[in-house]
Amino acid sequence: MDGLNLNLSLGGGEPETATALDVAPRPEIENVIIIGSGPAGWSAGIYTGRANLRPLLITGNELGGQVAITNEVENYPGFPEGLTGPELVEKMQTQAQKFGTAVEIDYVTEIDVDGPPFGVKTASGKQYKANALIAATGASPRKLGVPGEEQLTGRGVSYCATCDGFFFRGKELVVVGGGDSSLEETLFLTKFATKIRVVHRRDQLRAGATLKRRAEANPKIEFVWNSIVTRIDGENKVESVTLKNTQTGEVSELRTDGVFIYVGHLPNNQLFQGKLAMDEQGYLITDRLMRTSVPGIFAAGEIQDHRFRQVATSVGQGVAAAMETEKYLAELEDRAYPGHIG
Ligand code: NAP
Repeated sequence: MDGLNLNLSLGGGEPETATALDVAPRPEIENVIIIGSGPAGWSAGIYTGRANLRPLLITGNELGGQVAITNEVENYPGFPEGLTGPELVEKMQTQAQKFGTAVEIDYVTEIDVDGPPFGVKTASGKQYKANALIAATGASPRKLGVPGEEQLTGRGVSYCATCDGFFFRGKELVVVGGGDSSLEETLFLTKFATKIRVVHRRDQLRAGATLKRRAEANPKIEFVWNSIVTRIDGENKVESVTLKNTQTGEVSELRTDGVFIYVGHLPNNQLFQGKLAMDEQGYLITDRLMRTSVPGIFAAGEIQDHRFRQVATSVGQGVAAAMETEKYLAELEDRAYPGHIG
């Protein structure tokens, strides 16, 4: 812990204004670097910024994360009229910057967890050191990787029933996948759609018995067994999918208004492999205080949560990670300068 260069001004007073912080040179060693710009990252920025920690947030390639590609968010508390995903992200970013979060539009390529201070390297060639890190890199829905999928995302192809289901009131849908997520979201979609065909590559569901029973009992749901989607077609919006039977090889076309894809999520964990403890699915393991296996490195949002996956829960986790980071840094300062207080 020799050579610690803490830049804390804890213990009262109003946070400095963003303007004053903008012009101040960055410290040689940052207090905290937040990796990721989804709801967890911005929330961590708001709280660490407001605690005068002058956080640095490195956005990653997809500014705003998964919610930024969501048409409408109407279940985030405080916005009864709803708002678009990009609008919500912009508001979070504005709030984080207002409290002094510095934002780097860059992509972290490597971290050194042998700290504090921890090392951070980015795609643009920058190198940083920080006494704490908050990992908020999120997760990405696993894609099918078929023609039409990318072009029609947001035009009938969706990975989020909670976000987009409402737009399919009175329509027919295809859902791909036979796991718990697929069936849970299919059941949710029955509130809106008139008919949902669940396309699964085998003739046995991976999902657990309860969801399976509920889905099988629902008259709006029909299963298409032993089938994969090989392409998604439509001019400006989804019109049909091409199916291939995995047993017979038979190819058929199925008309549909939308395709919801639930073939699993992949945590964006490349940076942390071999460095932080993960579960068998590759999600970072955290405790209730959002601590990872390395003291001083915290994690929030979908990089460590494959259960709730909501903007509101990611925000809460980002806040908790920020508050624990503040506590951690204060303790670090106490150890670096024993007796400096009082
Ligand atoms: P999952 O359990 O991995 O299921 C993914 C489904 O997609 C499987 O049916 C799989 O088929 C299929 N699939 C994968 N790749 C595919 C491809 N390229 N083409 C076509 N189909 C493909 O993922 P999940 O449903 O997101 O669940 C993730 C974890 O969260 C699981 O542990 C699950 O139990 C848990 N979860 C629990 C609940 C709940 O308890 N209420 C709700 C949601 C999630 P195969 O079956 O043939 O492999």
